[in-house]
Amino acid sequence: MITIVGAGPAGSYLGYLLARLGKQVTILEEHSQVGSPVQCTGIVTNSIEKFFRLKNEVIAKRLDKVVVVSKNSSITVNVDEIVMWRDRFDRLVAEMAQDAGAKILLSHQFTGFDGRNAIIAKDKKNNQTKRIKADIIVGADGPYSAVAKAAGLSSNSKNYIGMQAKVKLKADTTAFETHFGSDFPGFFGWVVPESEGIVRLGLGCFENTQEHFYRFLKSRTGKKDIVCWESGLIPLYNPKKTIQKDKVYLIGDAAAQVKATTGGGIIPSLKAAHTLCGCIVNDKNYNKEFRKQSGRELLLHLKIRNVLNKFSDADYGRLLELMSQEKVKNVLKKYDRDTPIPLVANLLLKEPRFLSFSKFLFA
Ligand SMILES: Cc1cc2nc3c(=O)[nH]c(=O)nc-3n(C[C@H](O)[C@H](O)[C@H](O)COP(=O)(O)OP(=O)(O)OC[C@H]3O[C@@H](n4cnc5c(N)ncnc54)[C@H](O)[C@@H]3O)c2cc1C
Repeated sequence: MITIVGAGPAGSYLGYLLARLGKQVTILEEHSQVGSPVQCTGIVTNSIEKFFRLKNEVIAKRLDKVVVVSKNSSITVNVDEIVMWRDRFDRLVAEMAQDAGAKILLSHQFTGFDGRNAIIAKDKKNNQTKRIKADIIVGADGPYSAVAKAAGLSSNSKNYIGMQAKVKLKADTTAFETHFGSDFPGFFGWVVPESEGIVRLGLGCFENTQEHFYRFLKSRTGKKDIVCWESGLIPLYNPKKTIQKDKVYLIGDAAAQVKATTGGGIIPSLKAAHTLCGCIVNDKNYNKEFRKQSGRELLLHLKIRNVLNKFSDADYGRLLELMSQEKVKNVLKKYDRDTPIPLVANLLLKEPRFLSFSKFLFA
């Protein structure tokens, strides 16, 4: 019996892969429905369709441009991105798991282990405490992972505070914006259209997030235009994090499997689900396998993030100047951030002056 805690994309997709192979899978979800509350912008590259086809009702928009904005300049780059309705996406993946034979227990909150082969869950609907048999336990329970804490796997990894609201704002509905520089310290800001007149506006920060968020909001509109909040934590990838201890495994945000450049965790968690499924089925070391299959990519994102975090506004201006060349834009269109190794290699090949930023690696 495999018990997965959390019916987010990581938990449900892993449940789907394992159930498809005939494994007995139970997924616990503490909320009364999958997908709510939403704490995400829901933007992914079209690489998501390497995993499975998205149904139309999951897609809010397809965007073919990103406007990259720094303090004193901006450029537009052609891309191929999908903005999803995140609640519907989570439900789609959960349905795939159920159709493959996994059982989902809603309103069931993991509270701890009961010996080696069982866990304790609170049935919130019936206000009961239950003991659930579990030979293998997977914590797919997000950045606050109770499974990681109970298994002694929580580390002192850092989390960004991702502050985001749905806001009434007229914006180009074919493009999203990313904002960099001293008004967005340590990360970046975004404006992503979801429908005519509504955008998802947010930023990530380690500190003073509210102050930065409200300044950003004020530069575009006001508090009165906030429709609802969709904020949450964004884990920073930690290559040293232990993600398996005996028969307890972590995946997704619980394992900090997130691209440090963008905070995107959906595609890395789907990829990790394939790795973990293989490790469970073939009894392989997941700490090692994950590093082998995704570690180099996530480490590259982390290194780029560390370089960007040392940039001044003038450095961002210089970066955008190099990115504005047609030959560079072509590379950015061909390789997306989910294939960072060929992306960076080809960018350096086409424009060796990007190498000048490598001085920040050692600064
Ligand atoms: C503001 C913001 C914007 C983002 N934008 C993007 C984006 O545009 N693109 C992108 O790729 N990523 C984005 N991310 C990151 C993305 O949301 C996460 O990486 C992704 O949700 C990780 O999926 P997961 O399944 O690991 O965790 P989650 O989606 O957090 O799912 C965890 C599930 O576990 C459940 N749970 C938690 N504790 C328990 C418990 N004790 N018992 C039972 N169930 C439990 C939760 O209810 C939840 O359903 C964003 C994050 C934030 C905060």
